[in-house]
Amino acid sequence: PTTATALSDLSADELESFLENQRTAYAELQGRGLKLDLTRGKPSVAQLDLCNELLGLPKGHLDAGGTDVRNYGGLSGITELREMFADLLWVETEQVVAGGNSSLTMMHDCLVQLLLHGAPDSPRPWSQEERVRFICPVPGYDRHFTMLASYGIEMLTVPMHEDGPDVAAVRELVKDPAVKGMWIVPTYANPSGSTCSQEVASALASMETAAPDFRIFWDNAYAFHHLTEDEAKSADILTLASGSGHPDRPIMFASTSKITFAGSGVAFLAASKANVDWYLGHQQFASIGPDKVNQLRHAQFFGSAEGVRAHMARHREILAPKFAAVDEALTSALEGRAVATWSKPSGGYFVNLDVLDGTATRVVELAKAAGIALTPAGASFPHGHDPRDRNIRLAPSFPVLDEVRTAMAGVATCVLLAAAETLSG
Ligand code: PLP
Repeated sequence: PTTATALSDLSADELESFLENQRTAYAELQGRGLKLDLTRGKPSVAQLDLCNELLGLPKGHLDAGGTDVRNYGGLSGITELREMFADLLWVETEQVVAGGNSSLTMMHDCLVQLLLHGAPDSPRPWSQEERVRFICPVPGYDRHFTMLASYGIEMLTVPMHEDGPDVAAVRELVKDPAVKGMWIVPTYANPSGSTCSQEVASALASMETAAPDFRIFWDNAYAFHHLTEDEAKSADILTLASGSGHPDRPIMFASTSKITFAGSGVAFLAASKANVDWYLGHQQFASIGPDKVNQLRHAQFFGSAEGVRAHMARHREILAPKFAAVDEALTSALEGRAVATWSKPSGGYFVNLDVLDGTATRVVELAKAAGIALTPAGASFPHGHDPRDRNIRLAPSFPVLDEVRTAMAGVATCVLLAAAETLSG
């Protein structure tokens, strides 16, 4: 049994015996032949089952305006679903596009259009600039970074704080005209769990940028994904931006991937009318219209914006105990040891675990060898490189509760073993 002394306060002998104990605990862990996966933020089967009614919808094939959803057309999506999500995202219906099944695809489409054509306020297409740079709050979402990397866009990191990206660092970077945009996950960020405050959002909306066509990719993937009754409100970035004279700066994205079916949901883009027209103006060459049958069945399934909120409460009932289990396992094994800190998110899909500097890769490797798959160390940083090798993203949504408990107790053992190995040199 461990008394919770900071590992760095142990004498050399104490540390040696602590290390031996952890080696024994790890050998036991390996002996259990586990096969658990905490790599990605996927909804669990129980969550997917909450939406099985969708498989029998839509009833009928006409939307509220009488359009036959089975046919081509309606590039911006069906009105009743756009209205519902405009209400949820605090924007006007004309500012919302309901698209296909993936918001990541909409982000990618925007980026490619900026590269190939530029925006109306661009001096030239981004691809004709000598270099294009993007601000990336870290830790952040790995697919944001790999998307930029695939187009050779340079990534400049800024720290992600409890209230959003480090504004002073962002203000410094946007003095460079090559800095064309930035990512933000404003609500319950992946993976830090933090929520961008009104003050930070307002500063980002109003700051001077050297690039006249600076864009904020405001990825509100977890806008409604509360884990407690204390529901975070996303800052109203479109109003803040238009109020400070930069109406076209933000492009907001959201989807029902973690509300209904992750692979068969509906994605949304919300922006100024000028940005929406720009987006659809290019999109018209790529599609005759989105899957309106899927959009109609979503509109019928939810019924209203209130229906979406009520549905999210059912997700919370399934998810909250898993996040509590992560915190319990980490607290009981690691509290007082001074070798790790972790987030206690009130929403979203992730727990951010920071272990002793230089040991994250080792922890993930130890866990893997014990049958516990974790997201690769460094994944939350551009090019997969965490300069301090300390960050691990935990995704407890998919496994059942018992498996989350087992996996996290195992991860805690790996954290302690890796720390003891490093400290004993
Ligand atoms: N944005 C963030 C921050 C995410 O974490 C995810 C999925 O994990 C996505 C976007 C993917 O969204 P979609 O399923 O709508 O493409």
